[in-house]
Amino acid sequence: MTDLRKLARGQPCQLRLPGICNHDNETTVLAHVKAGWCGSSKPPDICGIWMCSNCHDVFDGRRYSEYSRTELDAEALRALTQQLVWYVRHGVVRW
Ligand SMILES: [Zn+2]
Repeated sequence: MTDLRKLARGQPCQLRLPGICNHDNETTVLAHVKAGWCGSSKPPDICGIWMCSNCHDVFDGRRYSEYSRTELDAEALRALTQQLVWYVRHGVVRW
């Protein structure tokens, strides 16, 4: 199986929060979405989104923004869906 964390390096940010995103692919990491995931461990990597450092900091609450949690989660759903489509189109995940 493809190492999704390695694959994330250098990829474009998928969250792309207006006014926040730095569009710097060099800062992209696989940011895990914990919705519904209990415990201190990270969810599976398939639940990750490519995020630049700025979007990641806002999404994880390390940086203030005017986005509500609901707005961030809605953006994350869009981004995760785009991420999954990318995986299918590039053969990373079989449909
Ligand atoms: Zn971003």
